[in-house]
Amino acid sequence: MKNKRKKQTAQRQLTQRFVILLMSILISVNLIFILVLTKSTYEYMEDQANQIFDSVALNKNATSDWETVVDAYVSKDEDDALKISLNTGDSYYSAEGQEKFRALKKGRQFLFFNNLFIAKDGEVYYFQQRNWPDLTAALALNVESIVEMTSSILFVSILLNLIALGIGGFLIYLSVGRWSKSLSTMAREINQIEENPQQLLKLSVPENPIETSNVATAFNMLLEEQRQAMAREQQFVTDASHELRTPLAAIRGHVQLIQRRGTDHPEVIPNSIAFIDKESKRMEKMTNQLLLLGRNSQENEVEAVNVGEIVQQEIDKIQLISKQTIRAELSDAIILSCVKLDLQRLVQNIIENAVKYSDASSEVFVYLSEEQQKIIISVLDEGIGIPDNQKDKIFERFYRVDDSRSSEIEGSGIGLSLVAAIVDKYHGEIEVLDNKPKGTQIKIILPK
Ligand code: ADP
Repeated sequence: MKNKRKKQTAQRQLTQRFVILLMSILISVNLIFILVLTKSTYEYMEDQANQIFDSVALNKNATSDWETVVDAYVSKDEDDALKISLNTGDSYYSAEGQEKFRALKKGRQFLFFNNLFIAKDGEVYYFQQRNWPDLTAALALNVESIVEMTSSILFVSILLNLIALGIGGFLIYLSVGRWSKSLSTMAREINQIEENPQQLLKLSVPENPIETSNVATAFNMLLEEQRQAMAREQQFVTDASHELRTPLAAIRGHVQLIQRRGTDHPEVIPNSIAFIDKESKRMEKMTNQLLLLGRNSQENEVEAVNVGEIVQQEIDKIQLISKQTIRAELSDAIILSCVKLDLQRLVQNIIENAVKYSDASSEVFVYLSEEQQKIIISVLDEGIGIPDNQKDKIFERFYRVDDSRSSEIEGSGIGLSLVAAIVDKYHGEIEVLDNKPKGTQIKIILPK
């Protein structure tokens, strides 16, 4: 069976809850009030009856004129009735007493109140009887006015409570509405943001309540991050297709050249094939790097890695294929918990650049040390250097220093953006400095 729950606004839901709470409080207070009121009224009737019985007891030996006695006790209020029955068999009634007791006999008892009766004539009586060895006294106090008063007090109190509930409910509805206004505004604005994604709208942040204000701020931050990520993605796709288009067009140019002139001028073929081979290799490397940049290396396991060992392995690999001498000063026993592959790519890219952008006769220096829980990897070369105004930009995707010497050297401008992404992942920093008298120093600082 489906549990269908009706959707409700916060204002309705909160109002309902508060009104139920208010109602429960009012009902409890009223119940206590009714109980106390009825109890004291009942006790008052009991007291009245006892007073009369006590006087009868006092007079019982002093008089034999019961006729006068019965009338004396009830004369204050003609509606009451007293009956004295002697053991001798004689009975004495107060004025109209006989009719009243008769009406009472045919009447009904009140629920829960054993001594209260509604007589046949519609009057309400408090009835009590007391026995002595020589006589019995029965008393019917007319309590119509007391019962009437009590019920009108109850009626007025219930009426007042209903009014209080009505006004209270209305005030609760208004104040809850004011309170939840920030929530409904937020929901409305989120809808607007969803419907008009191009307008780059934001949520307005209310001052109060703090929770709503925090949610709105967090939502705005998330939205901003999301938008930036989307913009980066879009930029990435644009840049990547732009970068691939140029070599592809060149390859197609050479293919067309071979198709048009290959038969008549076979001498163009080797040159074009060499170009196609070189460009396609470059594209292969570039797409591989792009894939690395896009892939999340979090899928690899984090482990305790000996940094010195990895740096040495990368130096050895690069040294095999490069003419520059790579010198290293590596502190051993520096352990970093990271994905091994991340550290390898990081070190490989910086050392490769140091070699790539310097003369075959020059030297490259690699230092590894640890200072105050920070691992420092520095790579220094004696190469062409990086102009100050471009030091920040080299970490952007596809960015290459725009001067004749750099552009002669093959590259895609992706390597350092990969390095930046890895350093970022480990909350580290990169510094690009000049090496004296010439060249570049790249310094990577990784917190342990
Ligand atoms: P790539 O080397 O493939 O072009 P990178 O992202 O590794 O791409 O580097 C970006 C740019 O930064 C390079 O094109 C180059 O101009 C400059 N660069 C990086 N490292 C060095 C270095 N050690 N010396 C001089 N220039 C460098």
